[in-house]
Amino acid sequence: MSLFDGHLTDAQAQRMVDGALLEPETASVERHVAECPECQAAVESYRMLAIALEDLEVPPLPADFTVGVLARIDAAERAAARERRWALGILAGVALATIVAFVAAGARAWAPSVSGVAERLGDVALAVRVGAGFLPALVGVFRLQIILVAAVVAIPLLVALARLMPAPEARAEVA
Ligand SMILES: [Zn+2]
Repeated sequence: MSLFDGHLTDAQAQRMVDGALLEPETASVERHVAECPECQAAVESYRMLAIALEDLEVPPLPADFTVGVLARIDAAERAAARERRWALGILAGVALATIVAFVAAGARAWAPSVSGVAERLGDVALAVRVGAGFLPALVGVFRLQIILVAAVVAIPLLVALARLMPAPEARAEVA
């Protein structure tokens, strides 16, 4: 492919404005532009653009720009972490309250329901009714095991919920 073919490329027009035409193309490009109004217009438009860009003032960044931005990101991250800890604390509190309520209600609520079933079954279920009398005591004895089972169920649930918790407010501060 020749260095100059037909009209000027954008790169050639820009090089001509910058006075940086390549040695092999210089003669043919200059000869073509002298005769081609279309390429003269292209070169002129790049010249105007170059002048406009030179006049454009880029305001200097404050010396502490990077430090300031990083500090703001850091503050937003800390706020997000604080919100996540709060959410986890609230969830843990709810789970603990649920477990306590479960254990407390269990001792009282289970015994009557078992007794009700036993009464309907009549004399055949006498042994069950006798056993029902022991149920609150039984729940008391196995209280620790019940708490452990509830915790085994609740903890993975808590972890999953904590991971799902977004912090959109903190992200918005950065934007
Ligand atoms: Zn041309």
